[in-house]
Amino acid sequence: EKFKDGLAKTRNQFTSKVNDLVAKYRTVDEDFFEELEDLLLQADVGVETVMELMDALRFEVQRKNMKDTAGIQSVISEKLVEIYEAGEEESNELLIQENGLTVILFVGVNGVGKTTTIGKLSHRLKQQGKTVMLAAGDTFRAGAIEQLQVWGDRVGVEVIKQSEGSDPAAVMYDAVRSAKSRGVDVLICDTAGRLQNKVNLMNELQKIHRVIEREVPGAPHEVLLALDATTGQNALVQAKAFKEATDVTGIVLTKLDGTAKGGIVLAIRNKLHIPVKFVGLGEKMDDLQPFDTEKYVYGLFA
Ligand code: GDP
Repeated sequence: EKFKDGLAKTRNQFTSKVNDLVAKYRTVDEDFFEELEDLLLQADVGVETVMELMDALRFEVQRKNMKDTAGIQSVISEKLVEIYEAGEEESNELLIQENGLTVILFVGVNGVGKTTTIGKLSHRLKQQGKTVMLAAGDTFRAGAIEQLQVWGDRVGVEVIKQSEGSDPAAVMYDAVRSAKSRGVDVLICDTAGRLQNKVNLMNELQKIHRVIEREVPGAPHEVLLALDATTGQNALVQAKAFKEATDVTGIVLTKLDGTAKGGIVLAIRNKLHIPVKFVGLGEKMDDLQPFDTEKYVYGLFA
């Protein structure tokens, strides 16, 4: 239900247009395929994925000897799921250690919803019975530390912080030591989202990595990149840059509720080969959902 509600905008635009198309054409022909292709492109599914999907659809329509457009939506869903899952080397699931501390690093540019996502994820993990601690590693942006503290208070988790302008690696060191000594299950670390200077970003993230790994071998266990779904193709550009700067293990696609172009999930998967682990479907504490391909695709056509 959450998925369905969160995808309302995409459904209202994309799905209803597909339904109109089906009603308009009745029989499957080249004109129908061409218009469908346009709709998919408008939904930000991405050129390559659209081409792949269109090939699969044409093949399936021929194989089944479908003449009627009725029921084509379920064929589209089926093929979308197949295409998405074919590219899926890694799982969508968050890697939480069975024993000991799990460290999750969050990266992403300002405004994409990183702080909100950290808050929501803390809430989610707490509900699953985990103890959570936050590290205020964005010491650069004015107000970032306070904003994280607000979420910490709201969710009821401790925030390890220093003053604005301090060394993020020092904050991480403090945070990892505190988390270990208190036997916390999951430490979630915020970082500054500066993409303007890629070398600085890379150096800062490497330094943070080193500090964390020295204290917890194998950590950080996840490096999650927050991307704003409403920025469309720009999100892909950001993702490429972060992928070059660090080992991103998963993507959180925020504000999926705020866009009619929900096809961006598929473009990200196919272009970047990084699993989308969560999607943000609203501003509230429980508006973060693990990404599930079938729920997503069938949510579009339900
Ligand atoms: P940050 O600068 O990346 O830390 O971004 P914030 O966490 O401050 O979020 C920026 C704005 O986006 C805030 O107004 C959030 O409430 C909003 N936001 C974050 N995630 C979502 C989401 O999934 N859906 C919607 N509709 N808004 C969101």
